[in-house]
Amino acid sequence: MTENPSKTCDLCGLPVETPDFSLLTVNGPKQFCCEGCHGIYQMLHEAELVDDVDAVDSTK
Ligand SMILES: [Zn+2]
Repeated sequence: MTENPSKTCDLCGLPVETPDFSLLTVNGPKQFCCEGCHGIYQMLHEAELVDDVDAVDSTK
């Protein structure tokens, strides 16, 4: 697998220890360290969010 264990939060830059807080945007997938960062990014980049997640990740 090519998953990078040292992925950092796309909002605050802290290490991401769980993949639970992720968003799909027009700029690609984003990951966050916590629900707070996830929610803030969602508000700030509302126009960039991609709703059709199934189109990209249909394996889950
Ligand atoms: Zn964060």
